[in-house]
Amino acid sequence: MMNVPFNKPYMTGKELWYISQAHASGHLAGDGTFTKKCNAWLEQNIGSQKALLTHSCTAALEISAMLADIRPGDEVIMPSYTFVSTANAFVLRGAVPVFVDVRPDTQNIDETKIEAAITERTRAIVPVHYAGVACEMDTIMDIARRHNLLVIEDAAQGIMSTYKGRPLGSIGHMAALSFHETKNIISGEGGALLVNDPRFVARAEIIREKGTNRSQFFRGQVDKYTWVDVGSSYLPGEIMAAFLWAQMEEADMINRRRLDIWANYHQWFASLEKAGKVRRPTIPRECTHNAHMYYLMFPDIESRSAVIARLKARGIQTVFHYIPLHSSPVGKEMGRAADDMSHTDAAGERLLRLPLWIGLEAEHADVIAEVVAAINEN
Ligand SMILES: *Cc1c(COP(=O)(O)O)cnc(C)c1O
Repeated sequence: MMNVPFNKPYMTGKELWYISQAHASGHLAGDGTFTKKCNAWLEQNIGSQKALLTHSCTAALEISAMLADIRPGDEVIMPSYTFVSTANAFVLRGAVPVFVDVRPDTQNIDETKIEAAITERTRAIVPVHYAGVACEMDTIMDIARRHNLLVIEDAAQGIMSTYKGRPLGSIGHMAALSFHETKNIISGEGGALLVNDPRFVARAEIIREKGTNRSQFFRGQVDKYTWVDVGSSYLPGEIMAAFLWAQMEEADMINRRRLDIWANYHQWFASLEKAGKVRRPTIPRECTHNAHMYYLMFPDIESRSAVIARLKARGIQTVFHYIPLHSSPVGKEMGRAADDMSHTDAAGERLLRLPLWIGLEAEHADVIAEVVAAINEN
C-alpha cells in the first residue's frame, strides 16, 4: 500500500551547513548574522519598512495586537474560518473578536460584509489570506481608512503571493508570516512581523525585545538599555534563523515546484468540477498565489467523509479544517458572529485539503484524483 502523508517538510540540503556556521560563530541567541540575513531578505522581497523574525506567526500577531494598542472591550474584525492564533493574539489583550463570513470562492473574509460589522469599539481588521490567495485588499484598506482602523494581515500562508502585483504582507499597516513546518518556507517553528507603517517600527523592536530598548543600544543609539514599554521574548535563536536562511535562498524554486503540483491537481479536477461533483479553488484575476494548499469543496459532509475514508484505505492522508471559531467553545465565550456565517460553516464541513509537498509523486496524485473521481459512482 502507498504511504502518502498529508505533509512532508522539504529540506533544501543546506540547513545543517548553515546551522554548523551558527554553531561555530558562537552566537546562538537571537539577532545574529542569520537573523539579519532573513530580515533583510523579507524587507527586499516583500518591501516592508521593517521585518523582524519571531519564534512563530502567533508571536508576530501578539506583537501586532500590542502595537495596535488593543484594550479590553475593543473589537477586532476577522474571519471565523481561520486558525485560532488570529483571534487569540487579540483576545489576550482583552479584545472581542467579531467574526465576518467568508466568500464562497476564496474562503477569504467577505469584504462586502465588513462595514456592517464595524461599531464604535472597532479598532482593527485582520484579513487572513487563506491558502495564500489574497483578500480583496483595496476594498479592505479603503474601509479601514474611512473608519480610522488598522489593518493587520495574517499572511501566515501568504509568503510569495501577490495582490495586484504587491506582495502579501506589504499592504496592511502590519502583517504576520509563519515558517511553521506545514507552511511553504519553514524553520520548524518560526514567523516574522512585517511593519509597513513607519509609525510602528521603533515600538515593534522594543516589544519584541522584552519591552527594552536593547536593539537601539546594540546600534549605539543609546548608551544603556532599560525597560521602556510592555513586551515579551519573541526572538528566535540563530539555529532556527540559520535553518530558515537555507530555505529563503531556495524560495523561488520551492514556489515553482509547489505551483507545478497545484497546477496538476487543478487540471485533473477540472472535469469533475464541470460535472458538478466538486468545486476547485478560485484564484481571482488580480492575484498570484504560492500553492500553499490544494483543496476541494464537496457537496456535503457525507461525500467528504467518504472520500477521506477511501483515500485512507489507499494509504493517502488528507485533512480538513477549521472548526469555525464562532462555533468553538472559546470563540462563543469571547467573540461574536457579526451576521450569517453560512459560507464559513460550509467550508468547515465540506472543504478537504489534499497532500501537497515537494516530492509528491505523480503516481500518488493520479491515485488521489482517481479515488476522488469515483465519488458518486456507487
Ligand atoms: C499557521 C497559521 C498561523 C499560526 O502560525 P504559527 O507560526 O504556528 O504560530 C496563524 N494563522 C494562520 C492563518 C495560519 O495558517
